[in-house]
Amino acid sequence: MADTINQGTRMGFLVDTSRCIGCRSCQVACKQWNKLDADKTSNKGSFENPPNLTPELYNRIKFIEKESSGEVTWRFFNERCMHCGDAGCMKVCPSPGALYRTKDGIVAHNKDKCISCKYCVSACPFNIPRYGADDKISKCHLCVGRVDGGLVPACAKACPTETLKFGNRSKLIASATAAKKTLYGENDLMGLGVVYALEGPPEQYGLPSSPSIPMSIFLWKDVIKPLGILGFWGSIGAMLLHYVTIGPKKVDDDLNSKEAGHE
Ligand code: SF4
Ligand code: SF4
Ligand code: SF4
Repeated sequence: MADTINQGTRMGFLVDTSRCIGCRSCQVACKQWNKLDADKTSNKGSFENPPNLTPELYNRIKFIEKESSGEVTWRFFNERCMHCGDAGCMKVCPSPGALYRTKDGIVAHNKDKCISCKYCVSACPFNIPRYGADDKISKCHLCVGRVDGGLVPACAKACPTETLKFGNRSKLIASATAAKKTLYGENDLMGLGVVYALEGPPEQYGLPSSPSIPMSIFLWKDVIKPLGILGFWGSIGAMLLHYVTIGPKKVDDDLNSKEAGHE
């Protein structure tokens, strides 16, 4: 079961990939607003930089390069937390309040409550959460503070081409559908908070065609780990029971005298 979201008032992004020019103003604006440090990178022959999300980089532009008949074409993809309607990270998190849903449907987090177990990393279908030097979760929080104050997220504000449209999720989807856009994330995982208008199949952008929460994480968290803990406390209980009913273990007198060199 997903946590409750009011779909009528849910806020979100519509990312129209056909409009993106790869300027990365969104990356820079996010760093500036969230006071995130620069990431040290090296040139690997691509304009894509950095090559992955980091604890100091909540959104980035993925460069998808294609060569055909000697011509190189680029597609740009804004990678970030999807603010899933059915959020694997929230489902597995054992620390209440470390990951939480806001009234607008945002999946926000509280570092003070994060216990560094990293379950959310394994449960995320999009490989989003990162851990920094503080060993706490780090990801896009959809500028929850700005949104609460009636502002649009910093990345959307900085985007010069309106690739990143922020607003009422249902209205954004309705206008994109009317414009005959091919949408990704409208219904997956109870609807993603970040819906994409794509120009090709999801796989071309590195997206899973049917995203789902890996069941193995629930098996580990809900079955195997509790059994292991039960086994541990079972052993302690057995030792205590032995002590109470039979008494402390007596050391063999013979062994004692051998160790003392009295043979
Ligand atoms: S994309 Fe990953 S981190 Fe973001 S809400 Fe979904 S499961 Fe959580
Ligand atoms: S919504 Fe805010 S936190 Fe998320 S990527 Fe944009 S600027 Fe960064
Ligand atoms: S700011 Fe807008 S146009 Fe520039 S890279 Fe980001 S999404 Fe693309």
